[in-house]
Amino acid sequence: MQTDDLKVALWWETDENEKILCTLCPRYCKIGKGQAGFCYIRQNHEGKLYSIGYGRPTGFAIDPIEKKPLSHFYPGTLILSFGTAGCNLGCRFCQNWSISKAKLDDLNSFYASPEDVVNLAVKYKAPSIAFTYNDPTIFGEYVIDISKIAREQGIKTVMVTAGYIDKYARNDVYKYIDAANVDLKGFTERFYFKLTYSHLNDILDTLVWLKRETGIWLEITTLLIPGENDSAEEIKPECDWIVNNLGNSVSLHFTAFHPDFKMTGKERTPELTLNYSREIALNMGIKYCYVGNVHNIDGQTTYCPGCKTSLIKRDWHTVISNKLRDGKCYKCGTEIDGRF
Ligand code: SF4
Repeated sequence: MQTDDLKVALWWETDENEKILCTLCPRYCKIGKGQAGFCYIRQNHEGKLYSIGYGRPTGFAIDPIEKKPLSHFYPGTLILSFGTAGCNLGCRFCQNWSISKAKLDDLNSFYASPEDVVNLAVKYKAPSIAFTYNDPTIFGEYVIDISKIAREQGIKTVMVTAGYIDKYARNDVYKYIDAANVDLKGFTERFYFKLTYSHLNDILDTLVWLKRETGIWLEITTLLIPGENDSAEEIKPECDWIVNNLGNSVSLHFTAFHPDFKMTGKERTPELTLNYSREIALNMGIKYCYVGNVHNIDGQTTYCPGCKTSLIKRDWHTVISNKLRDGKCYKCGTEIDGRF
């Protein structure tokens, strides 16, 4: 492979057997010459690690920001969204597997410099850029360069991620990031190991770091899979952990699963499951909880935690009305958490 045009990766070292140890995520792949890590897009060529996904998006879309999902970060605005090939998790239920499980050569990826990406956001009048579709952790070098330029131009950047990232590398990758939606895919190690090939504690550590040690706006998504992570016995400890470790102002999204990838034998998540999970979260003190991937105006509306007035009414990804006044309830003046 011709390496002149490739980006040399950050976050790696060579071990005693001349293999490369990638230190970007807690998988810590040991990569021999000519080989790739688990995520496919970090490759060892002649003893150097390259970030093959750098500058190689697989396509762009202009989405409503509610689709990420983010409900408390400039609601009703547009966001330029893209990803690359590959992923550092191995979710059997992946809802985006045609991208995350692909190698770059399988997809029609093309070159786009960090400046090109920011210019696209400007061109389409999108005030934010989302790194999404596959897990942006694995193209962290590209994330840094884009988010730095974006910040200089007043454009916000958003990570949509599983949060499976090394505790040193994350300081670099998130340096210029404004918001994150982190998938908390379940709340047992059994679920994480069996169905995602990753570990719950690594994700919890990222969530605590984001909330306590950065100024990044944080929301959380849990995709509810029937029979796997949707029981009250799992939802309650998850909500309890969120309240006790992140506080009650982090928006939580329960979204519906559709049968996909290696879990085609499962049913779609019933709306009843989404609704009772939301009830549990609200009863346990979480101020903002939403349901997703369904039409459910009540479950997608932002209510004032003070006087319960409907403030931002939504139907799926559409904002129907927004009655916030300077980030506060128009009726009682309670401040609503988020960036508005
Ligand atoms: S980022 Fe990719 S290559 Fe690096 S440790 Fe994680 S899965 Fe392996």
